[in-house]
Amino acid sequence: MSTAIKQQHLIEPHGGRLVDRTGPRPDGVEQLEQVALTSRELSDLDMLASGALSPLEGFMARHDYESVVDDMRLANGLPWSLPVCLAVDREPDGDRVALTGAEGTPVAVLDVEGAYEYDKQREAERCFRTTDDAHPGVKRLYDQKPLYLAGHVTVFERAEPAFPELALDPAETRAEFAGRGWKRVVGFQTRNPIHRAHEYLTKGALETVDGLLIHPLVGDTKSDDVPAATRVECYRVLVENYYPADRVLVSAFPAAMRYAGPREAIWHAICRKNYGCSHFIVGRDHAGVGDYYGTYDAQLIFDEFEPHELGIEPMFFEHAFFCRVCGSMATPKTCPHGGDDHVFLSGTKVRELLSEGKLPPAEFSRPEVAEVLIRAYRS
Ligand SMILES: [Zn+2]
Repeated sequence: MSTAIKQQHLIEPHGGRLVDRTGPRPDGVEQLEQVALTSRELSDLDMLASGALSPLEGFMARHDYESVVDDMRLANGLPWSLPVCLAVDREPDGDRVALTGAEGTPVAVLDVEGAYEYDKQREAERCFRTTDDAHPGVKRLYDQKPLYLAGHVTVFERAEPAFPELALDPAETRAEFAGRGWKRVVGFQTRNPIHRAHEYLTKGALETVDGLLIHPLVGDTKSDDVPAATRVECYRVLVENYYPADRVLVSAFPAAMRYAGPREAIWHAICRKNYGCSHFIVGRDHAGVGDYYGTYDAQLIFDEFEPHELGIEPMFFEHAFFCRVCGSMATPKTCPHGGDDHVFLSGTKVRELLSEGKLPPAEFSRPEVAEVLIRAYRS
């Protein structure tokens, strides 16, 4: 059976078709007006190129933007929870511009559909549920240029992946899933090292499906998050030692964090649908920051859509811990015992132990993972 036929068993991309916005370098790029992208916009551009943001083919036009901000839908009604926009100072003169990457060299062209003003406070209030500029996503929004430039993109130079061995586009993860005979695949978004609690969630989810995609976000994060290189090493030793190789794929998710909590949970799920996941793990306070969002807001927001509209099925999880009485990992859903019986360490306590070179309890973290973190803290 060909891969294409086998792929029919996988979930369809969002909107029905995997977008490919890569293409050859057009003539005369050097003569075009240049627009420099921020690192967050470059992550979005690369995800537009690969189809990770299907059905988007470029940076959003006003009708889609307004509809997304107001109703979490594209203008055609398809669910979409966060703006994917390119901020500029002024409307370009020509009908095509060159988009430049980190080195200042052109990596793509954008066919200009127009530029429009947007209301930063309104976008913050609707998308981040706060207008507080202490929120990292809101601050980034407030610092942006004043107009959004809309248009389809054609990317002729893809971004250099931070982790080449983990770089798989949606078409490639889909081919991998199909090759392994997986139909039902659960995606796990993470921007932290995986300790026992999240290992338990991913394995609980995997018990009910064919395969698990561990899909760490490797785009921009806050400076106090654990660096991606350290996390990637943690995932490697964890999966090598504690997961069956034929049931798990680790690959990098090139997105930047927005810290938009509930809306970002929907957005993360839709992107993973494009990568071929039929299910998506949503824990407590998914994509949250500080105390801007309620513990379950990122789960409750899925109720605002009919299940068939999203296509991908969210799997909601509670906070997990090791319970000494149960003698196993558990959650408040499955364990009747009190907090004193649970192995609990605050983030501060864990950092304190690791920076002193001490292993946290094995009920909290696998020693192989903790050792990677200890080495990172010491260097
Ligand atoms: Zn218990």
